[in-house]
Amino acid sequence: MHQQFDKDRLEVLVRAESAGVHGVLLCADNLDTAEENLKLIKETNTRKNLSLPELLTTAGTHPHQASEWKNDDKDRLRCLLKEKSIAAIGECGLDFYRDISPREEQITCFQEQLEIACKERIPLFVHDRDSESMTNQILKSYKALPPTVIHCFTGTEKELHEHLDLGCYIGITGWIADPARGRTLRKIISDIPLNRILIETDAPFLVPKRSALEQKNLDLPTSFRSSRNEPCFLPVISSFLASELGLETREILQQTTQNAIDFFGFNEIEAT
Ligand SMILES: [Zn+2]
Repeated sequence: MHQQFDKDRLEVLVRAESAGVHGVLLCADNLDTAEENLKLIKETNTRKNLSLPELLTTAGTHPHQASEWKNDDKDRLRCLLKEKSIAAIGECGLDFYRDISPREEQITCFQEQLEIACKERIPLFVHDRDSESMTNQILKSYKALPPTVIHCFTGTEKELHEHLDLGCYIGITGWIADPARGRTLRKIISDIPLNRILIETDAPFLVPKRSALEQKNLDLPTSFRSSRNEPCFLPVISSFLASELGLETREILQQTTQNAIDFFGFNEIEAT
């Protein structure tokens, strides 16, 4: 869980549960954070007195951290996968927008994690920013991909269709509720079949913009108007998405909850 939540992790999780978010996927950006997430999951499992969401985590190395990816990390990752709370390999992928690690290192780090995911048949949680279809080309070169989500999709119409053709799920965040940056996504959102959408916050980032929410008579819970996104905002993102698609929020929640159960294997939540 991101360091912005260090001070109030439990409160954040309690708020998520009371907002109806009964399952939370923690995202790792390297193998150390995957281990920290596992520790947090074990700790929360002992808090029987609190009503908390079911927690799962990813394990993997983010493209920003690709330079840190070492040869031994393949074994370390394989070993981590024995933990049943690890639901996917990720975040892994390419980020040519920020280019924090050199591109060649990003590609190697992604490919090595992909090989493990294909072999172990564990879902892939992919980060793709401005790779101009390179992520898709790499994915395509593996014949039997495990279930794959392009998380926080921010790409073009062409990229969306390439991902859908490969059978990928598409992660939708509060990006869609950003008047300027979400414009392309709003135009193409109805091209995504409902059974391929996963909704997510990307917390603590990408707080839905209030100016966009207001147009749909939506708002964030009144006590949280900070710049930090958190899981209890997920219902607002779902309502925004439902409104864009001309559907009831209930329909979106039912289908995307079922998708999250199918994809990540949450077993304590119900698609009601
Ligand atoms: Zn990401």
